[in-house]
Amino acid sequence: MVETPLLDTIFSKEEVRLIQAIPISCTNQEDTLIWRGTKNGVFSVKSAYHMQKEVLSLALAGSSSSGVGGTLWKQFWSLPAPSVARNFLWRACNDILPTRENLCRRKILTDPLCPLCGLKVESGFHILWQCPSTMDLLSMGSKKFQKSYFLGPNFMQVIEGLFNKCDTEEMVQFSSLARRIWLRQNDIVYGGVLTHPRIVLQRTIKAIHEYTLAQQRGEQLVYPGGVPFELCWKAP
Ligand SMILES: [Zn+2]
Repeated sequence: MVETPLLDTIFSKEEVRLIQAIPISCTNQEDTLIWRGTKNGVFSVKSAYHMQKEVLSLALAGSSSSGVGGTLWKQFWSLPAPSVARNFLWRACNDILPTRENLCRRKILTDPLCPLCGLKVESGFHILWQCPSTMDLLSMGSKKFQKSYFLGPNFMQVIEGLFNKCDTEEMVQFSSLARRIWLRQNDIVYGGVLTHPRIVLQRTIKAIHEYTLAQQRGEQLVYPGGVPFELCWKAP
């Protein structure tokens, strides 16, 4: 694990937690710097241009390969939730979270099972929706989350189904709750700390309330590390 005092001097508290949650490879390999935009891992301006185009089209119009229409993504990006929660949900929908399933695929870990229930592979869909511990937590929020349990067969379709069933307030709650469920999972695995579901829900509601108040006042909420919340997107 990277030394905490060094990280504390450079990053915010939340960034430190995320960095420390990155598992060290079990194969003891040397670190290598690679660029994900090319097959050989070497950076090129052309590949950066294509990557930017791809990210923008995913963010603004939805993934054409997902089969989900652009309407979903328009609803998604206009959700009045903290951008950190929306970005997290977008990463989950595109299956790019560092779950145990994805880390095993990259040969960083060897055990893909969910450390909480030990029953299924720890995918984003499992952690954020299917795991019994997650359903316990979600059942304390909107009753529609619990009633939507059989939505699927993947996380993207769960989100699409929730948008059809839930109102804006409930979707804001879900997006913020999903991110906190992910952070809670990391706290359990890497910090040995189990936060009670009721506390997770209380913290989520408090954060949404503070965000809403700040928006109404036209203020910017600032992370401990000095990075402001994006209150609304403006064209560059
Ligand atoms: Zn589980």
